[in-house]
Amino acid sequence: MFRLWKFLKPYAVPVVAVVILVFFQSMADLSLPTLMSDIVNTGITNGDIPYILSRGALMLLVALGGSACAILAGYLASHASMGLGEIVRHKIFTHVAGFSLHEFDKIGTPSLVTRNTNDVTQVQMTTLIIMRMMIYAPIMCVGGVIMAVSKDAGLAPVIIVVMPILAAVIAVVALRGFPLFRQIQKKIDRINLVLREALTGIRVIRAFNREEDEKRRFDAANIDLTRVSISVNRLMAFTMPIMMLVLNLTTVGVIWFGSQRINVGLTNVGNMMAFLQYAMQILFAMLMAALMLIMVPRAQASAERINEVLDTEPEIHDPARPVPAKLRRKGYVEFRNVSFHYHGAEEPAVSGISFTACPGEVTAIIGSTGSGKSTLINLIPRFYDADEGEILIDTVDVRHLTQTDLRAKIGLVPQTAVLFSGTIADNIRYGKEDATDEEVRRAAETAQALEFISAMKDGFDSFIAQGGTNLSGGQKQRLSIARALVRRPEIYLFDDSFSALDFKTDARLRAALKKETVEATVLIVGQRVATIMDSDRIIVLDEGKIAGMGTHKELYAACDIYKEIVASQLSEEEIA
Ligand code: ADP
Ligand code: MG
Repeated sequence: MFRLWKFLKPYAVPVVAVVILVFFQSMADLSLPTLMSDIVNTGITNGDIPYILSRGALMLLVALGGSACAILAGYLASHASMGLGEIVRHKIFTHVAGFSLHEFDKIGTPSLVTRNTNDVTQVQMTTLIIMRMMIYAPIMCVGGVIMAVSKDAGLAPVIIVVMPILAAVIAVVALRGFPLFRQIQKKIDRINLVLREALTGIRVIRAFNREEDEKRRFDAANIDLTRVSISVNRLMAFTMPIMMLVLNLTTVGVIWFGSQRINVGLTNVGNMMAFLQYAMQILFAMLMAALMLIMVPRAQASAERINEVLDTEPEIHDPARPVPAKLRRKGYVEFRNVSFHYHGAEEPAVSGISFTACPGEVTAIIGSTGSGKSTLINLIPRFYDADEGEILIDTVDVRHLTQTDLRAKIGLVPQTAVLFSGTIADNIRYGKEDATDEEVRRAAETAQALEFISAMKDGFDSFIAQGGTNLSGGQKQRLSIARALVRRPEIYLFDDSFSALDFKTDARLRAALKKETVEATVLIVGQRVATIMDSDRIIVLDEGKIAGMGTHKELYAACDIYKEIVASQLSEEEIA
């Protein structure tokens, strides 16, 4: 957690102010019992009314001053700790934005969400308590002991006996609590995971009548969390009465021994009362320290989880000396003997891939599901880095370009269309922020989206729900194609982007696309032979390897796998 405190730097002034204010607050609290004993011992004993009044006024002033310091310290400490939370959330978010897909695979999206919300809250709450208590509690403990002994050293044995007992109770609680708190955070992760899946998959869950199973899965996670939380609360419930018992026994002890000492004239009422108050202050300070000790481990567990995210170095980063993007040769994509395997996978997802895709040409990739088509496409924008071989764009290795330069050349249409909440125009402009209305319209037209957009009530200003749930699969695909088109990139990557379109729309779209992409390099992943058979080059993928490459005619003559695919989809006359 202390490592996270370096982010408190912008709040250095308030933090220092809190330290000073808390110091004054504790001084005020420590002087009140003494002032009171003065009134009892000198004022009341001698019947000196003016003394009582003046001391009383002073007490009032000190008390008010102490409260003012406490309030101001509370305000500033909240300000600083909440600010710390904001900064840490920002750091996590920007750091995670730099992650390659490997890191997302590793930590998991639900856990990243918990870490950036719940865990940060733990840290900021604890920071608040620590700022208020870290100085207050020790001063009150040490100062209280000194003041109490100065009032009546004879009563000191009472607190000397009590303090270690209290400390022992606190230590037991803290030691037992730590593993439990760590578990709680894990259980919250689990709940978030189940909840996320249940909410995003609601249609599938309903369609397959799996509500009961999902409920059971959620209940299991929920009960699991409850069980651990109950253990924690049992620990707390057991602690509080013991603490109160210790406190009350201390009061009895002080009064018991104190009154005997008053009887024999060793001390007086004022001193005994002051001693009692100091004893209470000491024990309360210890309780506060205990609260801190209980919160710190939990926040520590959270801080470790946050640091784990911040320490995760993205596997993919920009080169130290990036090659400036070349302007002349536009969009040559070359694979040289590329192999890649996912972390934890035994077999490479793609291996030994070599081919060149040139501007003005359409290169198609076909193969059964799981043959590595998406993987191959994802290597081009560097979502993952190849293990072996190299991928060159305009003769420059993609690893030598900055990610921004590289991706500026690419218009990607992913396999599953992803849209954001906002209007249709917003979503298309996602490809190019400053696109004019005309450009947006044209992209939509090419993507064969104009028809359904015009049919909508507000046209381009129609609202799209989160994830595009108020659109059909084919409509989403066409919008995500328009988004890539508006960018006018040098390289188009269509990952199975026509799968949800009917044959007619598919054909029309490809015809329109051809006109738009005459100078660009186009890579199309397709399942349908009809979609790709007129491409300049077709690559047949099988289990991550190239099984054949050439035009439709060449492959049909030479490649068995291609022949099988074709035979399963086209009739005799279509093939010829
Ligand atoms: P295609 O797009 O041709 O259907 P993919 O490229 O998506 O195939 O997948 C190729 C192989 O890689 C599959 O066996 C798949 O299980 C595996 N794979 C895909 N994505 C991941 C991932 N994020 N982590 C681990 N394995 C993956
Ligand atoms: Mg795929």
